[in-house]
Parts: sequence; C-alpha cells; structure tokens
Amino acid sequence: MNVLPSTYDTWGVIASILIACFASYVTLELARRVQTHAGWAAVLWWLGGSLVMATGIWAMHFVGMLAFSLPIDLGYSVFWTTMSFLAALVVSGVALGLASGRTLGRARLVAGSLAMGAGISGMHYIGMHALDMVPGIVWHWGMVALSVVIAVAASAAALGIFFWLRKVEDESRPLRQVVAAMVMGAAIAGMHYTGMEAAGFPVGSICGSADALGSDGLAGGITLACGVVLLLALLTSQYDARVRRHARRMEVSLQQANTDLQAANEELRQRAFIDPLTGLANRLLFEDRLNHAVARLDRVNDTVSSRHAEKVAVLFIDLDGFKPVNDTYGHGAGDEVLKEVARRLNREMRDSDTAARVGGDEFLLLIEAAGGAADCVALARRVVASIAQPYDLGTDRVAIAASIGIAIHPDHGPGTRLVAHADAAMYAAKAMGGSSYAVFEPGMGNAAQEQITLQNDLKQAVDKGQLELHYQPKMSSAQSQFSGVEALLRWNHPDRGIISPALFIPIAERFGLIGEIGNWVIQEACRQMAAWTDAGLNMRVAINISAHQLRDPQLVTKIDLALREHRVSPSRLLCEITESVAMEDVETTQRTFENLAKVGVFLSIDDFGTGYSSLSYLRKLPAQQLKIDRSFVLDLETSGDARAVVDAVVRLAHALGLRVVAEGVETQGQRDILMAMGCDELQGYLFARPMGAQALMRWIKGTKPDGTPDFTPSVIHPDLL
Ligand code: C2E
Ligand code: CA
Ligand code: CA
Repeated sequence: MNVLPSTYDTWGVIASILIACFASYVTLELARRVQTHAGWAAVLWWLGGSLVMATGIWAMHFVGMLAFSLPIDLGYSVFWTTMSFLAALVVSGVALGLASGRTLGRARLVAGSLAMGAGISGMHYIGMHALDMVPGIVWHWGMVALSVVIAVAASAAALGIFFWLRKVEDESRPLRQVVAAMVMGAAIAGMHYTGMEAAGFPVGSICGSADALGSDGLAGGITLACGVVLLLALLTSQYDARVRRHARRMEVSLQQANTDLQAANEELRQRAFIDPLTGLANRLLFEDRLNHAVARLDRVNDTVSSRHAEKVAVLFIDLDGFKPVNDTYGHGAGDEVLKEVARRLNREMRDSDTAARVGGDEFLLLIEAAGGAADCVALARRVVASIAQPYDLGTDRVAIAASIGIAIHPDHGPGTRLVAHADAAMYAAKAMGGSSYAVFEPGMGNAAQEQITLQNDLKQAVDKGQLELHYQPKMSSAQSQFSGVEALLRWNHPDRGIISPALFIPIAERFGLIGEIGNWVIQEACRQMAAWTDAGLNMRVAINISAHQLRDPQLVTKIDLALREHRVSPSRLLCEITESVAMEDVETTQRTFENLAKVGVFLSIDDFGTGYSSLSYLRKLPAQQLKIDRSFVLDLETSGDARAVVDAVVRLAHALGLRVVAEGVETQGQRDILMAMGCDELQGYLFARPMGAQALMRWIKGTKPDGTPDFTPSVIHPDLL
C-alpha cells in the first residue's frame, strides 16, 4: 500500500523535545514539594503539580503533532485534543501520587510504570485520533507496541530517577536533576515519535478535521504558554522550598535554644543540692534527708518498744587549722584539702549515710539507723584520725584536725534541734583543744545563749535608732553609668559596733522581730528616696524582703502606704526577694508578687542560682530583674562550670525578658566576663562598697568617702532602665 510521505518541521521537533525536558525537570521539582508537605498543602501541591505536569506532557505531544505534516491539509479536532489533555492529567495525577509515597517498592514501580505508560500511550493515541482521517490511519502494530514499551520504560525510568534523586541533598542535586530531566524528556519524545512512525496515511487520504486546530502560529503559542506555566511552577516551587528550608532552620535553632535552657536548668538544679567543690550534699539536701530520716524513725519508734528503738545521729565536723592553710598556701590549696577531707569522709561512712559540706570548713554527717552513742563515738574517732593524716600539697605536707560534735535523736531531743545540738557539742570539743569529739549534753547550748542576748538587744534596736541603711550603687554595664542603689541594713550595736545583717537578720527572723525591722526598712528607704528626689536625684532604690515579710498579708499595703506617705513613685522602688525564699511557698510568692506588681513596684529575684527554681514558675512571676548569686561571680575567673551557669542564667533571664544583675563583682576580670556575657547591671566592691546616704551623695558628686576626688558617676534616670 502506498502511503503519503510525511515531513517534520525541525523547529517544532526541537521545541517539543525541549518542552519534554523542561516539563520533566519541573515535574521532578514538584514531586519533591508534594513529598515534603503534609495534609492539605500536599493535596494542593498534588493538584497544582498534576495540572502543570499535564500541561507539559500534553504540550510536548501536541507541539510534536503540529510539527508533523503531510502533503494534504491537517487539523485536529477540538474534542479529541481536549480528551488527550484529560488523559495527560490522569497520568500526571497518578505519577505525582506515586512520587509522594515514602518508598518505592518493586510492586509499586511495576504497577506505577504500567499505569503511567498506558496513560501516556493513551494520551498519544487519543491525540492522534483528533486527526479525522478518511480512510483511517493504517497502523504498523510492531511500532505501536514499541511505542508503548518505550512509554512504560520511560515511566519506570522517571519514577526510579525521582526516588534516586531524593536521596541526594548536596550541591550536585540541581545538575543531576537536569541530567535526569534530559533522560526523561528524551524517553517521552522517543515514545511520541515512535508512535508517529507507527501511523501510515494511505495515498488519497483526506483529513476531515482540516478546518479545526492546526493554524500556523499554534505551535509557537502553545510552546510559549507552556513555557510560562512551567517557569511559574518552577519559581513557586523553589520559593516554597526556600521558605521550608528557612522554617526548618528556625525550628532547629529554637530546639537548640530549648535544649540549652533545659541543660542550664538541670545545672542549676544540681547546684541547688550539691556542693560544687567537694561533690558532697549541701545544706539543703542534708536537711531534707535529715527530716525524712527523723520522720521515718518517729513512725517506726511509735510501734516498737524503746529498747529496740532506732536512732538517727548527726556529726558536726569543723576543721581546726584550716584557715592558716588557706592563708598560707592560697585558696587553690585550701580547695584541694577540702576535697581530700570529703574523700576521707566518704571512705569512713556507710553508703546509707549522708555527708554534706555546709560552710567553708564545716561538714555534717547524717547517720541513719545508728546503733547508739557508742557506734557514733567509734565513727567520730575514725574520722578524727583520718582527717589528722597529713595532706600532700605538692611540695609541702600540711596537717589539720577536726572537732566533732555528736547529737542523737531521740536521746538528745527532737530532730529539729539535732544540728544545733551537734553544733553545740562541736564547740565543746573545740574548747577542749580540738582534734577530738564530744557527745551533746544539755548545757552545751551556750552559743544559743548568745543568740538570746543578741535578740534582746535587737528588740530595742529600732526604738533606740541603732539601725541604719547603707546604699550600694549598681552600675549599668552598657553605659558604665550608675543605675540605682541597693539598701543594706546595718545595726550599730552600742557595745559590739556594726553587726552584719547576715548575722542579725536570721536572728530577727527566728525570734519574730523581722516584721518591725522590715517595716522600718520600708519607711526609711521611702523617706530617703523622697529626700533624694527633693535634692534632684532620681534613682531606683532596692530593698530586701525577708521570708517572713513575704508571708505577711499586710506587706503590700504597708509598702503602698509608705510610698504614698512619702510621695514616692512606686516604680522607683525595687523589692529583692531571695530565690530560695520565693520558692519556699510558691503560691504565696506568686500572689504577693502579683499584688506588688499591681501597686507598680519593681521586683527582683535575688541570689539566683542557689534555690530550686523551675523555669515554668519563673515565667509566671511578674519580676523585672534577676540577680546572679555572688558565689557564681566569685568563681567566674577560675571555674568553667561557674561561667557555664552564669552564661546560661543570662540567656535564660533574657529569654524571659528579665534584666540580669551580677552582685559581688570585685575584680576587673569578673567585670569583663560578665559584660561579655551580656549582664545588664553590675554591683560590687569593684565599683563601690555600701555606704551611708551622705557618703553616697559625696560619691555621686565625685568624691570618695574619704574626701579624695574620684570620678563623677552620672545617674541614669530609672525610667530609662
Ligand atoms: P544580699 O541581698 O545578697 O546583699 C549583698 C551583700 O553582698 C551585702 O552584704 C553586700 O554588702 C555584699 N557585697 C556587695 N558587693 C560585694 C562584693 O563585691 N564582695 C563581697 N564579698 N560582698 C559584697 P551585707 O550588707 O552584709 O548583707 C548581707 C545580706 O543580709 C544581704 O544579702 C541580704 O540578704 C540581707 N539584708 C541586708 N539588708 C537587709 C534588709 O534590709 N532586709 C532584709 N530582709 N535582709 C537584708
Ligand atoms: Ca539583695
Ligand atoms: Ca544577693
């Protein structure tokens, strides 16, 4: 049979192959989008992607058809051309659906390739049907079969390539994707032109649809439109990928910050219970264990006859001659000795016992299930002997000794008095010359006697005008200006001179005198602030609030009244509350904080790092400031741990929107580290010691308390802080 000779328009063929490659590239890109999204976003990408992909495949096919010509007029029926587009749409939907799967098993690959191959072939031959030929096309069935095989193979290649590309995430990916797109494009075009070769048009054929689609400019128009669609899809997809990458990075960095915060919190927790130098328990943990042991024992003893009763003992261990070692050999050597003492204690005690370091050179041992005084004495003897062994300090060997006081519950009184009684017994042992032990006896509590004397004097301190507030400047680290003061209480004792608040505040707390003293502080601070304001000095003054005051339901009213009475703006007053106190009774603290905040007073969490704060709780307190405890600042230059904690605390505080103040800054080195970490304010002897109101005035005017001119510290207005 004679067939009409067919020809191809070269540009049309090139255009169709380019479209095939470009469409493949964009399709690979879109498939990735479908895969990285989930839910509705994935469905939308799938729908949009299928539309774009179908446009690409179909345009390739149709432009290829338009490039084909016979010596007779050809045209394509609108209906079948549209149907061929719908076929392309179905193929694309299936293909992208498959690509969005997590994995590609062999069964999926085979089924997917067959479906896609059938779809592409379907599209092609439906498209050919748009040529309404009379007589019909004569098919070369071998070529038809070959075109279908090529379509299936091209589909398999496309799917395989996609899943293979997916694993590549480095900079070579775009290039690989281009190569893959060219392979796919060639395969699709190969299928198309093989399919065209399968068609024979007998001589004398007429095209019934010659008046339909087929004008000269159509191929160019479709190429252009399809190119634009593909390009837009590509840009959208790349923009989406960028946004996703960015979001992912944000997520990772947020997660990192969160992990850091948790680590810092954990670190703080550790510090709350462990003595960082020796690794022994600290006082908090010790007291907790002691309370539990006593409570357990009291329960057991209620049910057992007293002959078999169990006991709990406390050994109070104080080193003799430690201070001279520290002074002569330095703190480093002192620390080594303390660590060695801790090791020796650990060696002497049982696993069920608890050793704690509770002061510079003071240790406590808690003996649970103690047999009786004899056992404790035996242990004390061993400890005395062990600690008396010389300590190796590299070049020198030094000797120290220990004085031990023993108190046993229930023999020597209630559990709550156990430590105090062991302490009293320890003093008795020291009085005997040291390096020995003493078991508690009533009458040893003379130290307690001293407290009672002080307490009697303290009762009259307010009335006799023996109290005074000193003020210590705080510096703003950013502007190296002076940003406010902390009021610190001083007691001018008629016989003993100035007594530190560290000594008398605990007594005042214990004997219920803190209320009156605390009120005096509030009144005095407000009076002084008013006087300063009159003198043109506007600055924020911090006062310290004790645990007892915090529990006083009248506290907020008292502060409010004092502020009004002296016409002081509430925001000038800052209340410092020690972290451990704030954590004692969380609910009360929160209520008091909230009420104080309502009055307009600023709030600060003092001695931070020594208590047991939880992040979630801190977040709830309406505080403006957090003061890092002096002990951390002290170790900054020597301890990486201290630096890590302070760094974490600063970041944590800033994350919670709090200003960070470091107290006890004594050296330039500490100052530099704190400033580098972003501490907002600094306070310490490096800048100024606490001083009376007049001395402060002189200091501000540029003269040191002793009269020598110094520098002029400018005051930052509190509203700027
Ligand atoms: P705090 O609130 O932690 O006050 C800071 C303490 O560190 C003050 O001791 C201050 O003089 C001292 N200090 C400041 N800079 C440095 C430094 O560079 N190096 C060293 N080593 N120490 C520095 P102070 O005045 O003896 O007060 C001790 C504690 O007594 C205060 O600790 C506070 O808890 C309590 N306190 C003081 N005044 C009052 C008060 O009016 N009411 C209550 N409830 N407690 C008060
Ligand atoms: Ca304070
Ligand atoms: Ca403090």
